[in-house]
Amino acid sequence: MKLILLGPPGAGKGTQAKMLVERFAIPQIATGDILRGAVQAGTSLGLQAKGFMDAGALVPDEVVIGIVRERLQEGDCQGGFILDGFPRTVAQADALQATLAGLGRQLDRVVSLTVDAEALVQRLTGRRTCRGCGRGYHVTFDPPRSGESCDACGGELYQRDDDQEATIRRRLSVYAAQTEPLIAYYRQAGLLAELDGMQSIPVVQEQILSALQAG
Ligand code: ADP
Ligand code: AMP
Repeated sequence: MKLILLGPPGAGKGTQAKMLVERFAIPQIATGDILRGAVQAGTSLGLQAKGFMDAGALVPDEVVIGIVRERLQEGDCQGGFILDGFPRTVAQADALQATLAGLGRQLDRVVSLTVDAEALVQRLTGRRTCRGCGRGYHVTFDPPRSGESCDACGGELYQRDDDQEATIRRRLSVYAAQTEPLIAYYRQAGLLAELDGMQSIPVVQEQILSALQAG
C-alpha cells in the first residue's frame, strides 16, 4: 500500500501512521522526523533546515523533495510506504508524482484528516514526543501508561521546540496557505478519502482502515 496521510499539524498523522506501520509492516516516511534527526545530528541538512523549522516555516521544496526521492528508493519501501508530512506544497506533490512514475509506481490512496483549529492547538501544546523512537503522546488525550517515559521503548519524552503556541499558530497558517490546496489536488486525482479527525485515536484508525479497503 502506498499511502499519504494529509492534514494540518496536530491532525494525528504520526499517531495513525505508527499504528498502520505495525499493522502492515511498511515504513512511515515522516519528513519532519527525518529533518529533526538531521538537526539533532548536526549535519549540513540539519543546519540548513533548523531556521525554517524554528520559525514554523516550510523547509525549501528542493531539500525535502531530495530526501523523499532517495528514501523511496530504499529496499524497505518496495512493499509500500506511508508518507506523513509530505507532500506539503503543490510542487512537492508534482515531484512525488514524477518520482513514483519514474519508479513505475503510483499512489493508492490519500487520507486527509480534518480537525478544528482550536483542537489542533490543544493537541500540539500537549504533545510529548519520545526521544528514542519518536512516538507521540498527549498529556491528556494519550498519556503514556508509565506516566513519564515511552511505553514502546522507555525513552525520555520531550516537548518539541515548535510546539509552542506562537509557532503553532504560524504553522497552521502555513498549512492553510501552502498545504490545504493539496486536498483539491488529490480529490481531482480521485485518490482522496476525507475523514473526521476529531474522533478518538482508535475510531480514526478504524475509519482509515475502512477507507483503505474501499479504495
Ligand atoms: P501530526 O503528526 O498530524 O502532527 P500527531 O499524531 O503528533 O499529529 O498528534 C498530535 C497530538 O494530538 C499528539 O499529542 C497526539 O497524542 C494527539 N492526538 C492524535 N490523535 C488524536 C485524537 N484522535 N484525539 C485526541 N488527541 C489526538
Ligand atoms: P512535522 O514534524 O511534520 O510537524 O514538521 C516539522 C517541521 O519540519 C515543519 O514545520 C517544517 O519546518 C519541516 N517540514 C517537515 N516536512 C516538510 C515538508 N514536506 N516540506 C517542508 N518542510 C517540512
